[in-house]
Amino acid sequence: MASVNKAIIVGGSKAIPKDALQRLLSKTEPAPGGCMLYTGCVQSNGYARATVNRKTDYAHRHVYRLAKGPIPKGMDVCHSCDMRRCISSDHLFLGTRLDNMRDAVRKGRQAKGNRLPNAKLSPSVVRAARLASALGASTREIALAADVERSTMRSALKGHTWRHA
Ligand SMILES: [Zn+2]
Repeated sequence: MASVNKAIIVGGSKAIPKDALQRLLSKTEPAPGGCMLYTGCVQSNGYARATVNRKTDYAHRHVYRLAKGPIPKGMDVCHSCDMRRCISSDHLFLGTRLDNMRDAVRKGRQAKGNRLPNAKLSPSVVRAARLASALGASTREIALAADVERSTMRSALKGHTWRHA
């Protein structure tokens, strides 16, 4: 009887989403706040990358799709916990890219060590802006989120200003 059951499992191995999700979650370590930090491939920008069903994407985006459903066009999967390599589906929510960037800019402004609270740009805001740019946001979108002139943002993104951010 055992061999029959096994045959059924093997025969049905055509990428069951639950299995892919389990596989991703098996590569995590727990962290305070209920975070599940991915221990596989993590990029220099802090986001984890994984391949599921031959598609490579950020691990948290895979988890969102597997656990909650499709990601509508123009939407980003955001972290309520701000831990980029966390893939707990409880910590993931959908936001527009602009929401996501405004959130990053706001947090950048509040970051410790920002000695010029009235300056519109700061190292942490510039870092958030560069990350948004790497993720595909346009200069216009980012400038809007950071509330600066487009030319100011373009210079910062290109590294003409804020080279050491
Ligand atoms: Zn988390």
